[in-house]
Amino acid sequence: MSRYTPTYHAQSVYEIPAAFYKKIGVKNIIIDLDNTLDSYRSLSPSERAINLIENLKKAGYNVIIVTNNKKRRVEGYANELEVNFLYSARKPFAFKFNKLFEKYGLKKEETILIGDQLITDVRASKRVGIRSILTEKIVKEDQWTTHFNRLFDRPIRKKLAKQHKLRNWREDYE
Ligand SMILES: [Mg+2]
Repeated sequence: MSRYTPTYHAQSVYEIPAAFYKKIGVKNIIIDLDNTLDSYRSLSPSERAINLIENLKKAGYNVIIVTNNKKRRVEGYANELEVNFLYSARKPFAFKFNKLFEKYGLKKEETILIGDQLITDVRASKRVGIRSILTEKIVKEDQWTTHFNRLFDRPIRKKLAKQHKLRNWREDYE
């Protein structure tokens, strides 16, 4: 189970204030795109995604979007937000992450990964050796490639909740 235990749990990335990351010593925020920031159908960032990223950048954070989806899905979206991105990231594997860390000179202890899936996002954070925030999906609908992962995600998530292993981020903030 510890392979899937996130550092924190949040209902969504949108409920977390920018000051939280400073409080826990994070400078680099790696965010999953589909069902974490927006629906996979949103080719452009939503108003709230624009506001969130704008706010994080203003507060001095280094924001990077990391997705298993293809370049054509993320490129325009990330460019509109003026953030760096990694496509076809092959989460849960660490290989492309490690390259990303080298490329931008990121320190693992100053980096957190935020995503809506245990099997890809949280598992990747464990393999890379960084902290994570697991979120709930923001829209009901998933891309078909995610349906398979959800079959595994749901029972593990339930079990983690039952064992009180989904630690709310507010516990380290308020
Ligand atoms: Mg996702």
